[in-house]
Amino acid sequence: MKRNILRLSALASTTVLAGVTLAACGDSSGGDGMLAAIEAGEVTVGTKYDQPGLGLRNPDGSMSGLDVDIAEYVVNHIAEENGWEQPTISWRETPSAQRETLIQNGEVDLIAATYSINQGRSESVNFGGPYLVTHQALLVREDETEISDLESLDGKILCSVTGSTPAQKVKEALPSVQLQEYDTYSSCVEALRQGNIDAMTTDATILLGYSAQAPGQFKVLEMERDGEPFTNEYYGVGLAKDDAEGTDAINAALDELHDSGEFDTLVQQNLGGDEAVSPGTPGDLSFLDN
Ligand code: GLU
Repeated sequence: MKRNILRLSALASTTVLAGVTLAACGDSSGGDGMLAAIEAGEVTVGTKYDQPGLGLRNPDGSMSGLDVDIAEYVVNHIAEENGWEQPTISWRETPSAQRETLIQNGEVDLIAATYSINQGRSESVNFGGPYLVTHQALLVREDETEISDLESLDGKILCSVTGSTPAQKVKEALPSVQLQEYDTYSSCVEALRQGNIDAMTTDATILLGYSAQAPGQFKVLEMERDGEPFTNEYYGVGLAKDDAEGTDAINAALDELHDSGEFDTLVQQNLGGDEAVSPGTPGDLSFLDN
């Protein structure tokens, strides 16, 4: 899979075409936390259904993508470490704006869904991770010439998703932008294809997946501010607030995922060695202080 990204600077007006081949309380015995669900053999995992390379429900009903693989790894690793049977996973679609609610309602036991850890969300849910770091970027049509930096979005119609961090960040940085907020990124992509919007913004990982799926139709522009990525998106695995035991178990599984080299393999398989991705340090939430 070829995933291309173009560098976009918020300060410089030049667009450097850098064609890069990118390739509740846990209780392990009878409680109602995530570990209890794994032990009982029935786990409900939330993910996205429309994000190729990350969380995708295929036409035959099977699931694929990096978040799907990571969730399966974590759940199976925890079961194995505890000497439990490999549990059955039921998948549940968790759109951006519904993630905290679905965890709080107990409708899902954990979520791996391009879910950025941030202060606000951490007040409602716990996070294992981060397992991966990416950055906010832009997707435009391949023949787009007017959009080259953050400021050039002024007067343009931009799409993002309700309840997502990129929608919030772009509104803060560019209050005059005409932002349309949809429920899913795939509906933004469709609107971009139809010419109803000029650009969409979210994590580079997600945009590269859509771009790779439709060769020749779109290009991904990197966003920068003062020479730095416009944002850092630290992906975490969400679970019930105060499930400390479950959180520790997820972090131990993620450490093993990284240390064994399996993480790199999964990134390569799902994102094609994506340049816009680096591994996170599970358990290290010091970035929340910034
Ligand atoms: N990672 C960002 C977030 O958690 C954007 C992707 C998404 O909406 O899932 O809001």
